[in-house]
Amino acid sequence: MKLAYETKDIRNICFASHGGAGKTTLTECFAFNSKLIERMGKVPDGNTLSDFEPEEIKRQISLNLTVVPIDWKNLKINTIDTPGYFDFVGEVRAGLRVADTAVVVVDVTSGIQTGTEKMMNYCEEIEKPCAIVINKMDRDNIDFQEVYASIRQTFGNKCTSLFLPLIENRVFSGLIDILNKKIVTEQGEKDLSTEQSKEVDTLYAEIVEAAVEADDEMMEKYLSGEVISNEELKSCITKAIACRSLIPVIPVSAFANIGIKLFMDFIAQYFPSPLSMPPAEVMLADKGDKIQLSADPKGPLAALVFKTLTDPYVGKITLFKVMSGTLSNDIKLYNVDEEKEEKMGQLSYPVAKKQENASAICAGDIGALTKLMVTKTGHSLSGVDQKYKIPWVPLPNSNAAMALYASNKADEDKLGAVIPKIQEDDPTIKIVRDEETKQTVIYGVGETHLNVVAEKIKRKFSVSIDLKSPRISYKETIRKAVKVEGKHKKQSGGHGQFGHCWLEISPLPRGEKFLFESKIFGGSIPKNYIPAIEKGVHEAMNEGILAGYPVEDVKVVVYDGSYHPVDSSEIAFKIAASMAFKKAMQEGETVLLEPVMNVTIHVPEQYMGSVIDDLNTKRGRVLGVEADRNWQIINAQMPLNELTRYTTDIGSITAAKGYFELAFSHYEEAPPKVVKSVVEEAKLEKEKQEG
Ligand code: GDP
Repeated sequence: MKLAYETKDIRNICFASHGGAGKTTLTECFAFNSKLIERMGKVPDGNTLSDFEPEEIKRQISLNLTVVPIDWKNLKINTIDTPGYFDFVGEVRAGLRVADTAVVVVDVTSGIQTGTEKMMNYCEEIEKPCAIVINKMDRDNIDFQEVYASIRQTFGNKCTSLFLPLIENRVFSGLIDILNKKIVTEQGEKDLSTEQSKEVDTLYAEIVEAAVEADDEMMEKYLSGEVISNEELKSCITKAIACRSLIPVIPVSAFANIGIKLFMDFIAQYFPSPLSMPPAEVMLADKGDKIQLSADPKGPLAALVFKTLTDPYVGKITLFKVMSGTLSNDIKLYNVDEEKEEKMGQLSYPVAKKQENASAICAGDIGALTKLMVTKTGHSLSGVDQKYKIPWVPLPNSNAAMALYASNKADEDKLGAVIPKIQEDDPTIKIVRDEETKQTVIYGVGETHLNVVAEKIKRKFSVSIDLKSPRISYKETIRKAVKVEGKHKKQSGGHGQFGHCWLEISPLPRGEKFLFESKIFGGSIPKNYIPAIEKGVHEAMNEGILAGYPVEDVKVVVYDGSYHPVDSSEIAFKIAASMAFKKAMQEGETVLLEPVMNVTIHVPEQYMGSVIDDLNTKRGRVLGVEADRNWQIINAQMPLNELTRYTTDIGSITAAKGYFELAFSHYEEAPPKVVKSVVEEAKLEKEKQEG
């Protein structure tokens, strides 16, 4: 690898796909062909460049994005490998944000899968140039043409094969290069047979049709029936890829390393460099104006942080892409999001899990900095004079929740220090303290995500933790108004205690929480004891009698009582009020309230019926349905109690396509079945605590 590359010589690509299509193997193959590694690692052997974390090796899936830069014919191809598993889509979005071209990998044995569609749709949404690799061409009983046809049918005719597989004696042995009309194998180049020529001519015409879309002049020529020369066609391929009028398709076998070198050549020659990409829209941090910044190494510095890692030896590593200017060691670095000057760390190139020293990173390239103080994923870095905010990507919803417990006291102390690091490493993780349930709750994209993070906490930070189902913050209330007496009297020996009150406790409408009033006239209780009575009530409200949950939506009126001139005290009235309140809970028909959530569910049309059926089994109420192209948005309300595994459920009902947003709506009386199980659980918990 050379020490420095010019912007025009950089290609940033990001592999994205359904899990298992072959992204990691492709990355490995690229690294091997470019001599970055001497031997190709294998996913099942757990020795690949991009899957190096133990959690990745154990599951044989990528969980993080990994940057592997390679030198190919004096160009630098920054390859970004990403996870295919849906819980880790945050990593994929980050990788695609900084890549100039997405390479969507399709497994020829499975054809288009949910992940393929998700990635293709996302690339369309963010207008990211794309190529499609049809991988595993070495496998038996495959049908390239069928998969290719379904790709064109699903994603349009701009998906055009620039190469055809060469199958000899039923073995995939090389590629037919349509643009150059020749056969390329490991052994060298050959001319096409007459039959192959015919097929190639048809596909050549398809390429012309897609490519001329990118160039008005060429389009005019084409429409007027003039012949587009091969040179002219080649000259507009990059432009056509950059503006998405052409999505090149290429068949390969990463495992057998067939077609990969030709693909790498194609990337080098035709994929857009950062210079061919439209300028980035950024915001002037001081004025709020939007301006365009192109990938000019001599322009003002603007860099986007797309990943933060914690390495047990090196500490914090920040990966960024320079969108404009050149980042060198002597620059005064400014964090635009934190509005703070950042301490310049050691500058390097990330190479999978390692870093290689660098003296400067130019526009369009990817670099790493160690030990930054305030910088997090998604932040913009610039110089101190000109500050630019670069837009970041929307992250997926983190709706899966678990309660996070340290296994013992020592780990509890350690956990506190570790939590900020975990959130920094993975912005789709949120860890919050829920004061109502007295639990620390960890939110993630799905159950696998949470389990992986839990494993990482144990391994990387040596903190032993457990994940449990999170407690739901139920409430208790009464249904009937009652009048109750509370008397606390201890007048034998020493200083006596005397507090006595009559309370009227009545239900309030849902959501009104608490009202306290004094209707003491004529001094049956001196004024200075009234606050103590309110305090006593409050204390009793912390723990309801049904299952120990806080009491809400009650009005308390103190209307009578008595006192003793010597023995009465604030504490005595507090105790009396508390006793009265507990009695009221017993007499006032206590009920359990459960939180009900507003749920907005996005699903492709064909799954709508199944999602609604499932909602009905979960005590859901559909409030309305809106159409959004061929998606449906279901607005519903569902008790939180039914939502604990909903990320997993919605995934299995909709072939992992559906997603949802959650927001608290209101509290509602829980049905007897829920009350029974909550009460039993509370009883068990209490017995456990009491030993
Ligand atoms: P990823 O999840 O997209 O990164 O896919 P991997 O690279 O982890 O590959 C998934 C599985 O498919 C692994 O067992 C690979 O060895 C295997 N695989 C990947 N590429 C090929 C290929 O070209 N041919 C065959 N036969 N197997 C492959």
